[in-house]
Amino acid sequence: MINEKKMVSMLEHLHYPSATTLDDFKFNLSSVKQRILEACQRVDRNPSTVRLLPVSKTVSPERIRIAYDAGIRQFGENKAQEAYSKWKELANLDDIRWTMIGHLQTNKAKFVAHFASEFQALDSLKVAEELDRHLQRLGRSLDVFIQVNTSGEASKYGLPPEAVMQFLHAMPVFNSLQVKGLMTLATFSNDVTQVRSCFIRLKKLRDQLLQVVTPNIKLEELSMGMSGDFEIAIEEGATVVRVGQAIYGSRTQPNAYYWPK
Ligand SMILES: *Cc1c(COP(=O)(O)O)cnc(C)c1O
Repeated sequence: MINEKKMVSMLEHLHYPSATTLDDFKFNLSSVKQRILEACQRVDRNPSTVRLLPVSKTVSPERIRIAYDAGIRQFGENKAQEAYSKWKELANLDDIRWTMIGHLQTNKAKFVAHFASEFQALDSLKVAEELDRHLQRLGRSLDVFIQVNTSGEASKYGLPPEAVMQFLHAMPVFNSLQVKGLMTLATFSNDVTQVRSCFIRLKKLRDQLLQVVTPNIKLEELSMGMSGDFEIAIEEGATVVRVGQAIYGSRTQPNAYYWPK
């Protein structure tokens, strides 16, 4: 396990210099990958089982192009309209993929259906229905993760853990949605034990669900961990870590802009 004192100090000093050059991006990417590697080694995991999803919300298309040149192909975005306009502007980049990681309102589903290859914050059947309707019309499909509120905080989106089973059973009717796994945001706390317990809860829930859901429902993926806590998440079984600031630099918007207070 990571030294808990060191982790606390990392959580307390979340300031990341802004990456603006190709070298900045290469440096940040390689240091994040190194940290992923070390976290894997601590718990004897194969690093190829952890996917890094770089989160580019608030980052301008100009800087996204530089990140692309540094090798990033997948871009995580929190807000549908921001992502949609970046997708349009950057459509000439080969092999670029967009992942939506933020809460989606029903009336924005049509945007996401157009461009996203993955949606990690599904927490309502109404949204699932709307996405499916638009995707079917467009002849597209979408990988989805069900967002679970593992912290019990009212400020977090996501289903309560006890509601996930019923939700999963309703999913097969949405032919264009492929369930891949679960996603969570840990509590924002300097208390590493509390942060870790959110990740443990998500993995436990997934393991329990696997015992009871039909075999055609896939739940291999656990998307958990961000810049401040991805190493803890890896230690607890994350298969996707969503890392923004440690690659792109600190954002000026507070987190409350993305999550209700
Ligand atoms: C912004 C965001 C992240 C990444 O957070 P960083 O602190 O930039 O690493 C992860 N998950 C979600 C849902 C986000 O909105």
